[in-house]
Amino acid sequence: MGRAAGTLKTAARKASKVVFAAADPLFGAFPGPRILIYHQIDAGLGRQMEVTKDAFVAQLDWMDQHGLVVDLESAVAARGAAHPERRFVLTFDDGYEDFYRHGYPELVKRNMPFVLYLTTRPVETREPLFPGGGAEPLTWDQVGEMAESGLMTLGAHTHTHLDFRTATTAQIEDELGTSDELIRDRSGIDPRHFAYPWGYWAEAGDAAVRNRYATATLGTGGPITADADPALLNRVAVQLSDGVFFFTRKMKTGMRLEDIVRRRLVRYSGP
Ligand SMILES: [Zn+2]
Repeated sequence: MGRAAGTLKTAARKASKVVFAAADPLFGAFPGPRILIYHQIDAGLGRQMEVTKDAFVAQLDWMDQHGLVVDLESAVAARGAAHPERRFVLTFDDGYEDFYRHGYPELVKRNMPFVLYLTTRPVETREPLFPGGGAEPLTWDQVGEMAESGLMTLGAHTHTHLDFRTATTAQIEDELGTSDELIRDRSGIDPRHFAYPWGYWAEAGDAAVRNRYATATLGTGGPITADADPALLNRVAVQLSDGVFFFTRKMKTGMRLEDIVRRRLVRYSGP
């Protein structure tokens, strides 16, 4: 993409974010704990799935001032309690080495718990999580060190990041079996939590996921109410273009119009 096209795209994204944020109060209250999705921290690639270190630090400080960062299980257990919207759960998907370098030390400094949803094949093969550099996977040693901190919940995220919408039940069973066995074998941890790859639920994997894990999270979607299904928990995606301003809007109202538009664009109509 040329610079002019890139600038135009950035401007369009900012303009639509303003519209999305303005429209969101029309959807009413956004109750429930906020389960945040992060991927890369300060990878320098300029992709929407990363955040800068400065934005990440400012977002952690905001959460510290406006509520409490808690572990996943206690947030889910307290989803019907008073002011669940002041509970924040930090989740990091896939397992990027830049998270260990730039994100994890900030969490240690603040004593904040977090979930790492690990895709196991890249850790084993050392292949990048996507081609082109800047997406190196964690090592098992790094995973082990973070587990020893006592702050990390290690969750599963399949072996190859398979899209369940185009997979058979047998393929899904195989993916989950391989991933869980590797996590157990390499880290000694029995994964009890799961994130659907790409955030997409599919009927073919529903029973297998429920059999194996206590909770399962998706991409962005509606709020987590008192009677929400722990195997279908929506999250709030934090993007590069959020900075601090749109991050705080998301934390308050969920940016649901943005989510509805995104779902239409990718033709996803699941939970
Ligand atoms: Zn993922």
